[in-house]
Amino acid sequence: MKRIGVIGAGTMGNGIAHVNALAGYQVTLVDIKEEYLERGLTAICKNLKRQAAKGKLSAEAIDETLGNITPATDFYGLGKADMVIEAATENEALKKEIFRKLDKICADDTILGTNTSSISITEIAAVTSRPEWVVGVHFMNPVPMMKLVEVVSGYRTGKEPLDRVLQYVSSLGKTPVQCNDFPGFVANRILMPMINEAVYALMEGVAAKEAIDEIMKLGMAHPMGPLALADLIGLDVCLAIMEVLYRELGDCKYRPCPLLKKMVAAGMLGRKTGAGFYNYQKES
Ligand code: NAD
Repeated sequence: MKRIGVIGAGTMGNGIAHVNALAGYQVTLVDIKEEYLERGLTAICKNLKRQAAKGKLSAEAIDETLGNITPATDFYGLGKADMVIEAATENEALKKEIFRKLDKICADDTILGTNTSSISITEIAAVTSRPEWVVGVHFMNPVPMMKLVEVVSGYRTGKEPLDRVLQYVSSLGKTPVQCNDFPGFVANRILMPMINEAVYALMEGVAAKEAIDEIMKLGMAHPMGPLALADLIGLDVCLAIMEVLYRELGDCKYRPCPLLKKMVAAGMLGRKTGAGFYNYQKES
């Protein structure tokens, strides 16, 4: 594999473009507006410089990496990709529309990957004429730092594309771990109910937000508390995943917390909007 397409230049898409370009892949990074691409490229540049400041990269590597990324507001450049990773907004209808388009323009053996956190790989694959070539490639946030990539087989994912994806993920210096297509896969099936429960604890006044985070950090040896982590992930993303778990598994233990819903409705999505459980205005 040489050419990788990345759809979406947001939190995850820019991180995925970053690690691919750094590993020497030619990346076409697609978003719907120039300003979103610029924001994504600015984030990549900032994160590369941060790695360089820690002595992990040379100044030349920054230029080389940025030189490997071609931004685009249309899908034409994706026609030549060996693999496409979709990291657009977590919305089923949107993702299915993107996969219908990719199915038309990509070669028959192009691997169509999705970074979805919770939407069924099997259902996304079913809108294409090549469900064997559709694979879940679930990177963790922040992508340049996190080693794990959950590689998710849809019901009809083939062995050859799956093996290629496992090899490709290793070539990025990441560790692929395979699982099957069930709501939330493994990571979010376990993580999101914990975050949701932390929001319930806050709403019910069990403790202050700082105390909830501190207890989970010190008591469970988690690097971040669940509320700070929700701010990092994006409260809209957390809510979308809880809604999928609740709908698909039909168990009331997955009911999204009303406070989480209220904060998303208020546009308090966490770090990306400058406010969530904590305030990030100064930082931005
Ligand atoms: P985000 O909101 O930060 O970015 C989404 C980007 O997709 C936006 O820039 C948006 O303009 C773009 N987009 C929307 N429609 C598009 C289209 N038709 N074509 C091209 N670009 C389009 O979201 P995110 O947090 O980066 O999440 C992206 C995906 O990654 C979601 O499926 C999410 O579930 C998944 N994910 C998120 C996290 C996380 O921690 N945020 C972790 C793992 C996986």
